[in-house]
Amino acid sequence: MAFTSLGLIDPLLRSLDALGYKTPTPVQAQAIPAVLAGRDLMVAAQTGTGKTAGFALPLLQRLATEGPQVASNSVRALVLVPTRELAEQVHQSFREYGKNLPLRTSAAYGGVSINPQMMKMRKGLDVLVATPGRLLDLHRQNAVKFNQLQTLVLDEADRMLDLGFARELDAVFAALPKRRQTLLFSATFSDAIRAMAGAMLRDPLSIDV
Ligand code: AMP
Repeated sequence: MAFTSLGLIDPLLRSLDALGYKTPTPVQAQAIPAVLAGRDLMVAAQTGTGKTAGFALPLLQRLATEGPQVASNSVRALVLVPTRELAEQVHQSFREYGKNLPLRTSAAYGGVSINPQMMKMRKGLDVLVATPGRLLDLHRQNAVKFNQLQTLVLDEADRMLDLGFARELDAVFAALPKRRQTLLFSATFSDAIRAMAGAMLRDPLSIDV
């Protein structure tokens, strides 16, 4: 199978070519068409399976091909991750895959000054990759608005719960529009993750790789 048969647009195919990706991994082959079609996903996948491209590629495509343009301080797609290292890594993936598209992306996490992160939010972002605590700080200071949010990704959801982010996650969910696409990725599926999935996902496609 080739990336072309998944329905990806040329600017993304050119990025993949430059990176030397020849064929989609199993999680990508299943996730990409489903995300493009607007479905919710519940994905059991470890690091190393190519899960990041599995959500980043179709999200970039939807953002590039569907309006409207992002308004000040708004975010169209939010990716929640457990750690600042993962935030940087996932953000870097969005930058690489999206380098031929006119989209604005950024990362926000704790342990560093909040002001530069607030400045980057001003014109609005197509994609924000964030840790839950810093995202809530930005939201409390009105630096980030969720009125334009169309997709939420929870990456490594089990690690977010292990690190004690359950309350922060609840506070974020309460502030998001109810009508949205939600993609949940987790290496393991405990009762707590299943409960979260049940509350957050609408008729999700389950993918297990
Ligand atoms: P991830 O599981 O998202 O952390 O990705 C694991 C690694 O696989 C990353 O270094 C990616 O750059 C690489 N990768 C992802 N998809 C592909 C692909 N289709 N072909 C080759 N390498 C890939």
